[in-house]
Amino acid sequence: MNKKKGRVFSGARPTGRQHLGNYLGAIRNYVALQDDYECIYCIVDLHALTTLEDTSQLREWTYEMALDWLAAGIDPEGRGTILFVQSHVPEVTQLHTLLSMVTPLGRLTRLPTFKEKVRQHPEDVNYGLVGYPVLMAADITLYKADTIPVGVDQTPHLEFTRDIVRRFNQRYGEVLIEPEPEYTDFPKVLGLDGEQKMSKSLGNYIEIAASPDEIEARVMTMVTDPQRRRLSDPGRPEICNVFTLHGYFSAGEVEQIAVDCRHADIGCVQCKKLLAENLAAYFAPFRERRAELADEPGRVWQVLEEGATRASDIASRVMKEVREAVKLP
Ligand code: SF4
Repeated sequence: MNKKKGRVFSGARPTGRQHLGNYLGAIRNYVALQDDYECIYCIVDLHALTTLEDTSQLREWTYEMALDWLAAGIDPEGRGTILFVQSHVPEVTQLHTLLSMVTPLGRLTRLPTFKEKVRQHPEDVNYGLVGYPVLMAADITLYKADTIPVGVDQTPHLEFTRDIVRRFNQRYGEVLIEPEPEYTDFPKVLGLDGEQKMSKSLGNYIEIAASPDEIEARVMTMVTDPQRRRLSDPGRPEICNVFTLHGYFSAGEVEQIAVDCRHADIGCVQCKKLLAENLAAYFAPFRERRAELADEPGRVWQVLEEGATRASDIASRVMKEVREAVKLP
């Protein structure tokens, strides 16, 4: 086996069945990174609590998300990736408390993501919401991850973690690792409306586990170029979200689709049918693998449990070093 370049950590909130936005924005990067890095992927259920009041579906969402990730190629068995649930390794909350002692409050309240959350949830600006970047720093540093996959717009978060690590190490000694960014392509995938980001809460998504019929039904509702009112109207593929998705899932056909759209040689219905077919074919092996995994009772939870055991091994060693550095009695 090739020597790995370093240790990657990344986490995502449990949101249940994954959609194309999750796939293009995160999952396919996670799968690819396994070739070069020792990867630790975490379903961050504690982070979800900062904005989630009704937790009744948390377990189901965690299961469905893990099932999708495993079926898509996150590979604990073959490639040694650690996949686990954040709260299953409680040391993260200890480290969060210790890191909070070196975190200036003003730095947290000035973060653009905090301001955005306050705008979204003005009625529930809780303490956890303010401190969630500290919990994120704890996630990364608890596993001594040195490489964090980020899109360019997520750089401020990583900078925050690096700053907290520097402050901690300055006060207590060089214990924690300052992580470096691994810039990856995190495309903003638009939803069926062609305007807003694809998201569960907006209902404008296509699940990657959808059946071919479900895919077609969803694709047929997609908004296209509004200037194409009649079949003979030439289209503008560059502003059409159907065409954007063709770019990811219709390899070898994209250029012809653009030409045909511009010359009105293809109608939007036909173009969408083609996309639906290509999507269904692209995710066929995934659906098969997903069905196999879902058929084995308890398999997904077993993988998550094994992941938590391996993550705990690292976490307890790191916490021992941290406690000694802080001189906790
Ligand atoms: Fe979009 Fe295809 Fe219609 Fe062109 S033909 S506007 S690319 S759906």
